[in-house]
Amino acid sequence: MLKIGVIGCGAIGRDHIRRLTDLVPGAQVVACADYFKEAADKVAAQYGITAYETGEALIAAPEVEAVVITSSDPSHAGYVLASLEAGKYVFCEKPLAQNAADCEKIIAAELAHGKRLLQVGFMRRYDRGYAEMKRIIDSGELGAPLMIHACHRNVSQPDGFQTEMGVSNVAIHELDICRWLLGDEYEAGQVLKVRQSACSTKGYDNPQIVLLETKTGCRIDVEVQVADAYGYDIQCQVVCEKGTVNLPDPYAVVKRANATRSFPILTDWKDRFIEAYDIELTQWVQAVEAGKLTGPSAWDGYVACVAADALNRSRGTGMFRKIETIEKPELYQ
Ligand code: NAP
Repeated sequence: MLKIGVIGCGAIGRDHIRRLTDLVPGAQVVACADYFKEAADKVAAQYGITAYETGEALIAAPEVEAVVITSSDPSHAGYVLASLEAGKYVFCEKPLAQNAADCEKIIAAELAHGKRLLQVGFMRRYDRGYAEMKRIIDSGELGAPLMIHACHRNVSQPDGFQTEMGVSNVAIHELDICRWLLGDEYEAGQVLKVRQSACSTKGYDNPQIVLLETKTGCRIDVEVQVADAYGYDIQCQVVCEKGTVNLPDPYAVVKRANATRSFPILTDWKDRFIEAYDIELTQWVQAVEAGKLTGPSAWDGYVACVAADALNRSRGTGMFRKIETIEKPELYQ
């Protein structure tokens, strides 16, 4: 049994604790921590595990063999660095850090160990729809990929949400999945503001459009709506030379009634990618037990943050910005 400590007992933290406890073979959650003490105490009582006062105390605890980080974005980099310093395997929810500079520190810390200890929570790579799209693209049957049209629509955002987070927290999923689907790297990008939706009254831009150009000249457009008032709607179409591949909508029963054909659209990301999260954590535990991580790496987390930084800097300039990374270390080849 891999003994796991989870830092962050909010929405996804509680969902991952349930998943690791009830579904994932070989996993045992033994500890939790949260900035909000009552949240950790409640989870600890529910699962009969230890609540630590701080994330740092949890990481240092001898009973904790591996760490899962599901706390708010600004805390990720510090907890990842502390976990690496303790020599422990760590799974960090996206984004890996708030900026590329912090990701570089994480890469340096992992390189010092000479082996991968970190996986980033880009769970869409484990979604059956995206995986099948990648299989078809990689088979070459449709020729070279040319363009991606994608959209990421959320129902609403919590207080404190800011325009930049539409890229660094929300579209960060597309920044990872598009380069993974294409097997390509980014050259440049920009963010455009469009006519604003009446659903956004809290001071952040909504919608925004992310435009990307890859090294091979593919073009990507991602519509980012963080308050659409109707559903959690993720779309992706890859246009290739001889055809297209589309991300399927999730399983839903079609109803025919009142002269209408209809099916429900999910509103919660936990339900939309439930199977992908299950597969992601199951494979992570297996990989930790085998001592060889294969899922999204510190490098993948870094590239997404480099792209997000460039995109956020482009806002309001009307210009594409270069997306430039450090040289890729051998560990991540
Ligand atoms: P949430 O419900 O707000 O939960 C975050 C929890 O972490 C809150 O209880 C918060 O406490 C706590 N926290 C904040 N700073 C902390 C710190 N320094 N140390 C310990 N705990 C701290 O948010 P969420 O929706 O679960 O998201 C958590 C993280 O997962 C985010 O980084 C998010 O981007 C990521 N996420 C990923 C996916 C995905 O699809 N892979 C989906 C959802 C979320 P307070 O409320 O007191 O601040």
